[in-house]
Amino acid sequence: MKICVLAGGVGGARFLLGARRLLGLDSESARADSPHRIDAVVNVGDDAWMHGVRICPDLDTCMYTLGGGIDPERGWGHAGETWNCRDELAAYGVQPDWFGLGDKDLATHLVRTQMLNAGYRLTDVTEALCTRWSPGVRLLPVTDDRCETHVVVTDPSTADGGAGAGEAGGSATGSRAIHFQEWWVRHRAQLPASGFVQIGAESASPTPEALEAIGTADLVVVAPSNPVVSVGAILAVPGMRAALRSTPAPVVGVSPVIGGAVLRGMADACLTAIGVETSATAVARHYGARSGTGLIDGWLVAPGDGPTDGSGDVAGVAVREAPLLMTDPDATADMLAAVIELAGLEVPARGDR
Ligand code: GDP
Ligand code: CA
Repeated sequence: MKICVLAGGVGGARFLLGARRLLGLDSESARADSPHRIDAVVNVGDDAWMHGVRICPDLDTCMYTLGGGIDPERGWGHAGETWNCRDELAAYGVQPDWFGLGDKDLATHLVRTQMLNAGYRLTDVTEALCTRWSPGVRLLPVTDDRCETHVVVTDPSTADGGAGAGEAGGSATGSRAIHFQEWWVRHRAQLPASGFVQIGAESASPTPEALEAIGTADLVVVAPSNPVVSVGAILAVPGMRAALRSTPAPVVGVSPVIGGAVLRGMADACLTAIGVETSATAVARHYGARSGTGLIDGWLVAPGDGPTDGSGDVAGVAVREAPLLMTDPDATADMLAAVIELAGLEVPARGDR
């Protein structure tokens, strides 16, 4: 079975751990003669230049998680990280001082930056980095082009609400766009946001590898990742929606919202900013049915979040309930099994696992 997963950072990485478990791709020896394969098309909207190095948070979270090097408490960055470089940068008073660059992590960014400067594509750089981590999943940036998420925020210093500003109502002059990382990490998603823009999207295109992964998959899964700044940023790359709409494979999404709340993090602030309610049904409607003008055929929700919760069904989308807490790879493997069944495909037999 060939599965293609659209993935962001923490939610995407955890889902991939479960996918790898279900298909029996945990060990390198098992992978060698396995008929199964997992491709992950990963968000690059969070990518940024900081202190002269290129940072790809979602690719790295997937790579470290699948490679066994993630810090399990934080959910991102290296286990056993040290922060000497960050402290030295702070001593020089250089900006940005709000982004935690770990010493070990920095080595990844240095290798990446050197290779990018030498002219390699991000896809090739990622493959080279993965040689060390051996994730067992092909990690594919959705695009090799710049397509960075910026957040339209109301600047408190110029908009109404500023001390003594005396302006009536928010005006366009009070809005500006800041890099997603500044909004997410520096402001903890607390600055009111009115939308998201992808800088560079007009001239970005999906990589041939990402398009091939989607077009040749037996099943495409939208991971329980942030629907706006992870999945949304993937879909913002021109050509991606068409690729999903035209693949012969069923496309099934897994809800990142359980019981009206997101897990670990601030994804609800992103949904609010685009006017989508934080509910499993609202996210499914936001993605839309492939039989209409949308992207999914099926939608996996947590027990109690299905059509019987009173919110009604999602026209054209097959909805099924299953436990959706990714507590460990086995529980997450069961989630993927439910996705495969929902898609009307056969779950790989245990002998293959
Ligand atoms: P980020 O790039 O690190 O923010 O990670 P993602 O975009 O991949 O995932 C963030 C999303 O994962 C959040 O919206 C969470 O609701 C979701 N999430 C995290 N843990 C779980 C879980 O155990 N189950 C489900 N269903 N969703 C989860
Ligand atoms: Ca992310």
